[in-house]
Formats: sequence, structure tokens, C-alpha cells
Amino acid sequence: MTAIAGAVAVVTGGASGIGRGIAEELLAAGAHPVLADLDEATLAATSKELGVEGIIVDVADPDSVAALADAVVRRYGRVDIVVNNAGVGPQAPIAALTLDDWKWLLGINLFGVIHGVHVFLPLLQANPHGGHLVNTASMAAFAPPIGLGAYSVAKAGVVALTEVLDAELRAEGSAVRATVLVPGSVRTNIGEGSLRDRADKDTAFRAFDPAAALPGVQWLTPQEVGRIVVDAIESDELYAITHPGQWSRVTSRIERIGAAFERAAESAELADGG
Ligand code: NAD
Repeated sequence: MTAIAGAVAVVTGGASGIGRGIAEELLAAGAHPVLADLDEATLAATSKELGVEGIIVDVADPDSVAALADAVVRRYGRVDIVVNNAGVGPQAPIAALTLDDWKWLLGINLFGVIHGVHVFLPLLQANPHGGHLVNTASMAAFAPPIGLGAYSVAKAGVVALTEVLDAELRAEGSAVRATVLVPGSVRTNIGEGSLRDRADKDTAFRAFDPAAALPGVQWLTPQEVGRIVVDAIESDELYAITHPGQWSRVTSRIERIGAAFERAAESAELADGG
């Protein structure tokens, strides 16, 4: 188990929303969070407010993530917790997406996490106390909604990456653990903020409105999510679930898959003459 008190914790997307909420709760639990974000102005304001360091990073750029890791190691000598959380969440029907839209979204939401794992995992493995990786996915990975196709593809990849990584780390007896954060709806800047650097691009993406897409959603605050993440790190939980009431969205998908397995089994029996 990674001790939170005294831990050096890098949080990407830490300037705003869930990343900020996680950083606040890590700080309250005695860690030293380092905020890493692309949005210079918000990063400066949040770092000042929380009294912590802020480093500019573009998670879509592997060199930028490597430079972030160098800066943290130069300053603190080690890394204990890495939260790969930076992300965008716009919507568009799959048929309307340009290839550039796909590359941009997967570049941040999937490759952003891959870059974080690629750069920071060796540092955590070299840490004599081990460490913990947290990757932010979404309920969209478990129950992909209409309009969030590209987003769901990225987030499903984040879930699979974290599941396999944690299993491999446990199998090799590593002291490093991984958690995938699976948030439902959280009040943040993701709606408008997501399209900030797409304004001058030929894009199908529009701001996602969860209230319209998922009526009756329960909203959490970023700080509530931050507390769930701290608890998941302390208890070495693979899945950090924020909205237990949404379990039926997962089971209804599994039931459809189960029904397809049953049909396949019946067809196989018929083919066997059974
Ligand atoms: P947010 O917009 O408030 O925060 C995201 C932060 O990521 C911003 O500060 C932004 O500047 C930063 N960022 C964006 N692109 C970046 C890049 N290339 N490099 C570095 N930083 C970058 O949104 P949020 O809701 O807090 O989103 C955080 C994570 O939570 C995302 O991965 C998102 O997909 C996920 N999530 C959010 C919700 C929700 O309801 N808000 C639900 C499920 C998952």
C-alpha cells in the first residue's frame, strides 16, 4: 500500500475539475501534489490557491510528459503517486468525425494516459517504496452512450490498460499498484473547456451536455471524487467507482452480451445435431 502522507503526487489535468479535486484531497491527506496542465492561466491560479507547484504539460506529447517527469525528479528526487487524469469530453456522432478529430481525442484521452504510464512506471518501479498509478476513465467505458463514441473508445482503452497493468504488476510481485477511476457525472469545466483548442479547426465535435444525454444524473463535486481516489489508493482498489447507482447501466450491457453467448451456444448445439 502506498502511504499518502509525504507522497510526491503528480496530477495531470490538475488545474481544474476532477484533477484539482484529487490534488486537494491528496494535499489534505498530507501528500505533496504537483499540478500538471496545458492551461497556463488556470494552472497558475490553482497552484497559487492551493500553495503547490504547477508545471505546464501537454499529455498528448510524449516529450512534454518526459520533461514533466524530469522536472519532478529534479525537484523532489522521486515520484510516489501519478494520476493520469487530463482529458477532454466533446461529443459527435461517429459518422461525422474527421480523422483529425479521432487523432486529437485519442491523442489526449488515450495516448495521454499511455505516455504517463510509459514515462512514470519505470520511476515508480525504481522507487524502493513502490508507488501507485491512477488513470481516469469514465462510466462511458462501461456503458458507451450515443454521441460519445470516440470518447468511449479512449476510455475503454484506459480501463483495459489499467486492468492488465495492475494484473501484471501483481503477478511479478511489484510494489506498484494501479487504479482506474470510473467517474459518472461530476461538475467541472469539461463542457466548454474541451473545445478550447479546437475553435479554429474543421471539427464535428460539440460540447457534451450530460444533463440532456443522461437525464436525472446525480452530480458529484470534484472533491467528493478526490476522496474516493484517496480511499482507492489507500486500499489498493483496482476500480474507483463514483456512482454505484449506475450499476444497472453496466448489467444491462452484460445481459445483452450474455444473451448473445446463449444464442451462440444454442446455434453450436444445433450444428452438433444436439
Ligand atoms: P476539466 O475540463 O475541468 O479538467 C480537465 C483538465 O485537463 C483541464 O484543466 C485541461 O486544461 C486539462 N487538459 C486538457 N487537455 C490537456 C492536455 N493535452 N495536456 C494536459 N492537460 C490537459 O474536466 P474534468 O471533468 O475534471 O476532466 C478530468 C478527467 O475526468 C477527464 O479525463 C475526463 O474525461 C474525466 N471524466 C469527467 C467526467 C465529468 O463528468 N466531469 C466524467 C467521467 C470522466
